[in-house]
Amino acid sequence: MAEVLVLVDHTDGAVKKTSAELLTIARRIGTPSAVFIGSQVEAARPRLAQFGAEKVYVVDNADVTDYLVAPLAEALEAVVKQAGDVAAVLVPTSGTNKEAAARLAVKLESGLITDAQDVQPGDDGIVVTQTAFAGGYTLQGVVTQGTPIITVKPNTTPPQASQAGAQVVPVELTVSDTAKSAKITEVQEKKKSGRPELTEAAIVVSGGRGTGGDFSPVESFADVLGAAVGASRAAVDAGWYPHSNQVGQTGKQVSPQLYVACGISGAIQHRAGMQTSKTIVAVNKDEEAPIFELVDFGVVGDLFNVLPQATEAVKKA
Ligand code: FAD
Repeated sequence: MAEVLVLVDHTDGAVKKTSAELLTIARRIGTPSAVFIGSQVEAARPRLAQFGAEKVYVVDNADVTDYLVAPLAEALEAVVKQAGDVAAVLVPTSGTNKEAAARLAVKLESGLITDAQDVQPGDDGIVVTQTAFAGGYTLQGVVTQGTPIITVKPNTTPPQASQAGAQVVPVELTVSDTAKSAKITEVQEKKKSGRPELTEAAIVVSGGRGTGGDFSPVESFADVLGAAVGASRAAVDAGWYPHSNQVGQTGKQVSPQLYVACGISGAIQHRAGMQTSKTIVAVNKDEEAPIFELVDFGVVGDLFNVLPQATEAVKKA
């Protein structure tokens, strides 16, 4: 079977859950191989082997991490060319990765589908499910030209272990001068909250304008659930929460098992980032709030009353 290349998302060799999800998807459509960018492949190998990577292509070239996006596309192109028989390239959805995937598609003259929620083998090719128009439509498509390049949203598929060899295959790369057009000069480490990564979390509790700027009940509820904290754009624009926590069309797209919207009206741009969540709960004091059209469970009430009670109830459970 042809190889399915999975770009590994990692921090210093610590492989993120999305990579296990993408390797699980890759096994449905071909032979999974990981693409590892960086020098810490030995730290990553056991987890990549655990989730079925037969090979791990390693691009250990500082230019790829020192410059913005373009060298990453060149690295992926080099791996595709070295691998030869490639059925698809799967990339975890993020701003950077989507740009790299688009550049790769141009280089390979291939079709690209972004923000996939499901990827399955089909009679006409690899069938990709995605939503369009801020979640108003669900559509299925296949790439009809070249090697399908697909960016996949996190939390779309439960990772399933399947031990494989994870044979390391070095890939030589000389990054072109044109790709080295924008250098990263400083990286500021994010403050550690101790909470899970927003796009990877199984549970997300988000706060909106209804918090009035006091996120403490939202954070306390998130902490008893082991959840990540999200925010609406209104809350972010008001300076109450960082943009890195914004959920929606111009923020992050999340698809957790459980999404709890607190004091959020449910504007279409917010829905665009969360409506593929498996179970949606809202707490809002306005029973007419549009978010209630979307929810599995709704609580009409003041979040400052409801959330502390819910937090205590979870603690006792
Ligand atoms: P509001 O709409 O003001 O809603 C606040 C809600 O809180 C109300 O329903 C109210 O009943 C409820 N409430 C008030 N007090 C309480 C209380 N004590 N307890 C319980 N409920 C209470 N928005 C995003 O979120 N993400 C995006 O990525 C995004 N991108 C955008 C892109 C564009 C181009 C544009 C034009 C807009 C975008 N927006 C985005 C903004 C979006 O249109 C809304 O303005 C925003 O989502 C509203 O945030 P909110 O629900 O927190 O505030």
